[in-house]
Amino acid sequence: MAITPLMPVYPRSPVRPVRGEGVYLYGENGEKYLDFASGIAVNLLGHGHPVLTKAIQDQAATLIHVSNLYGSPQGEAYAKRLTELTFADTVFFTNSGAEAVEGAIKTARRYHHHHGRPEKNVLITFSNAFHGRTLGTISATDQAKLRDGFAPLLPGFTVVPFDDLEAARAAMTEHTAGFLVEPIQGEGGIRPASQEFMSGLRQLADENDLMLVLDEVQCGVARTGKLYAHEHYGIEPDILASAKGIGGGFPMGAVLATEKAAAGMAIGTHGSTYGGNPLACAAGQAVLDVVADDEFLERVSRMGERLRGALEQMIPNHDHLFDSVRGIGLMLGVRMETDSRAFVTYLRDHGLLTVAAGDNVMRILPPLVIDETHVAEFVEKLSAAARSYELPQQAA
Ligand code: PLP
Repeated sequence: MAITPLMPVYPRSPVRPVRGEGVYLYGENGEKYLDFASGIAVNLLGHGHPVLTKAIQDQAATLIHVSNLYGSPQGEAYAKRLTELTFADTVFFTNSGAEAVEGAIKTARRYHHHHGRPEKNVLITFSNAFHGRTLGTISATDQAKLRDGFAPLLPGFTVVPFDDLEAARAAMTEHTAGFLVEPIQGEGGIRPASQEFMSGLRQLADENDLMLVLDEVQCGVARTGKLYAHEHYGIEPDILASAKGIGGGFPMGAVLATEKAAAGMAIGTHGSTYGGNPLACAAGQAVLDVVADDEFLERVSRMGERLRGALEQMIPNHDHLFDSVRGIGLMLGVRMETDSRAFVTYLRDHGLLTVAAGDNVMRILPPLVIDETHVAEFVEKLSAAARSYELPQQAA
């Protein structure tokens, strides 16, 4: 048999972590990696954080799972806290980002259905978006590599260029239900939307009674120095999908919505066996205990500026390799002049974990608990790698 027991859908690298401690991962044979990838923007608190570990241990010993058919003191408390901290009035818990986006899409469609406008069922989405791997979420993007071979996809999405307000306006029809957008595209290459675009979408939604749905699966939960990235733009969504960092590594997600937007989500319209079970809520609460704090958020911004500054200083020394830095807080990307995937592989072989993204970008997504010493270590190792990477390039 040629197929591997793990379905071979990932190009798995030789990094085989078996233990994590703070911002470091350790491989099977004791190899040490500085983890500036965080499981792709997941391990906000690094590895083995005592607050998260203890919350999960205590809850696991008390009650792991009960059905959503029963009352949920844990879910109620956690949802209440999220509504107090955000624009939202109500929360639905999921187990992943794609499920959160699916729930957000369903909430938006159901809003119009509830108001007697079932024909308003098309979301305008944006080029190079990544919303997940379910049939609904791959239908919401124009990326062929995600969609190929999975036809028939779902109708109900119109894709227009990212950050192009006029294109979004021009795509509106009597079938438009709203807009679905990442305020900062992650997989697409750490591309923050412009202020004009985000304010413009909010205005279009307000003027036409449409839903502004934000996918903050990657950019949300303190990664940019705000609890949610839309706060940088001074706008609020109607519906938001959150996941990745929300559980600090525990698989979970959430659909956040205003009371108005959730008008159609009545009893029986949606569900999940595991979503928001006591163990997941304990993990989510522990993450909030650490990150929903002005000082913590301020520190994320400070570390982000420091890292960005150091990267910007480094670029002129290796300008045949690096082009520019972009992103907000600790969601940073370096646009490369050479193949970013090959360089990320080279870094990995030198003990440094980053992640490649679209548009030839190297993503830098460290745990949010890094300090100056980790920034210095990262930049030092990156510079050394950039210097040694030049040699074969020049020799060639
Ligand atoms: N949305 C965005 C913006 C993402 O970055 C991702 C994952 O990378 C997803 C949705 C899907 O999340 P998940 O892999 O947890 O389903």
